[in-house]
Amino acid sequence: MNMNEYDVAVVGAGPVGSTFARYVAEKGLKVAIFEKKKEVGVPLQCAGLLGKKIKDVNILPDEYIINEVHGAYLHSPSNTILNVNKKEPVGYVLDRIGYDKYLAQLAVDKGAELFLNHRVEHIDIKNGEIFLKNKKITAEVIVGADGYSSIISKEFNNTRENVQAVQYLVDTGKDTFKTDYVHLYVDSKISPGFLWIIPLSKSTARVGLFADIEYHELSNILKEFITNNEYLKDSTILKKYPGVIPVNNYKQDVVKDRSILIGDAASQVKPTTGGGLIIGFVCAKIAADVVYGAINSEDITILKNYQEQYHKMYKNELKIQHEVQKTFASLNNDDLDSMFLKLKEKNAEEMISKYGDIDSQSPLVKEMIKTGLLFSILPKILSRKISNLWK
Ligand SMILES: Cc1cc2nc3c(=O)[nH]c(=O)nc-3n(C[C@H](O)[C@H](O)[C@H](O)COP(=O)(O)OP(=O)(O)OC[C@H]3O[C@@H](n4cnc5c(N)ncnc54)[C@H](O)[C@@H]3O)c2cc1C
Repeated sequence: MNMNEYDVAVVGAGPVGSTFARYVAEKGLKVAIFEKKKEVGVPLQCAGLLGKKIKDVNILPDEYIINEVHGAYLHSPSNTILNVNKKEPVGYVLDRIGYDKYLAQLAVDKGAELFLNHRVEHIDIKNGEIFLKNKKITAEVIVGADGYSSIISKEFNNTRENVQAVQYLVDTGKDTFKTDYVHLYVDSKISPGFLWIIPLSKSTARVGLFADIEYHELSNILKEFITNNEYLKDSTILKKYPGVIPVNNYKQDVVKDRSILIGDAASQVKPTTGGGLIIGFVCAKIAADVVYGAINSEDITILKNYQEQYHKMYKNELKIQHEVQKTFASLNNDDLDSMFLKLKEKNAEEMISKYGDIDSQSPLVKEMIKTGLLFSILPKILSRKISNLWK
């Protein structure tokens, strides 16, 4: 192999691309990662809230954990609050910038070559060719890990949809927050998106929202929220981070010719929360095993197994999350308030605490159907639609 030939070329040194690159490099393949930015991980485009499952699906040293999360306050539009919590941590708030850099370094330590400041301009997925500004690279397999605006995904003719997100780092200047709790706020004007306050310390927090609304309007909603919120009024905005979240399409192709897509480039995000790290890491592992198998046996058609395994593992959960999301989007603020009140009256906080999971909503929905709770909090037609998913 000459210096411009690789077994695998990964486009994008985000967390998912770097994790994939590490897996294939440690199997002994010759791997290149091309990253258009000069520095991995910046600017921050993440709230950094991860379910505890993160520790099962990737390496996470304690130094990147800012806080352990034990619970959440869920706020309705007129501020009925559900308090859901567990004794053991349900998730973590991460230093995402540090963690992205760490994952990229791990891939390099395992032998991957990382090329920063290298924007991939276009690719030929039939022949395995990657075109950068001044050079051409060839690879047996090209991996699109290039995020929501993936140029690799464009070669798949997938229709892609994204929604906008805005996040501010705020300082209240006093002891305001419990650092092991997050606050989530629903409101029909941003549904099925939501607002979050994720404390980093007693006085600082990441405050943001995502919704299918244009950026300017989204920023206005966030500013108004901060001005009126009981914890945030009079706080100082230290930083502003815009961001984009892909809309999950679990039916889309993630394998074509010599190319595969992973992470945000494959719209592998949870429909309910837009979170993409855990599902991205799981898919990076599946993809790495399949890519290694295809290269080892010199049979590129094996790549299709990645798509099959991904669909098999995630189709049901993603379908349920899409239905939950559609249901939320159809409720107005009166519906949301009455739903929260009914949940409170029926002592559902305990059930949500027990069955709720940041990463998988199906166990909770299933329990709500079993106990009849779903039918009492939602209009009949919607609860029937959701329960039919199990038939
Ligand atoms: C405001 C916000 C809050 C979020 N909060 C959470 C959360 O709390 N929990 C969670 O799990 N997820 C969250 N997410 C989602 C999460 O950040 C993404 O799912 C995750 O970053 C996806 O990782 P990735 O490696 O697939 O893509 P990315 O992190 O987007 O990385 C893609 C990389 O590819 C590079 N690239 C792009 N095009 C090219 C090119 N042509 N050539 C070379 N390089 C290229 C980019 O520079 C980038 O470094 C949030 C997202 C936003 C916007």
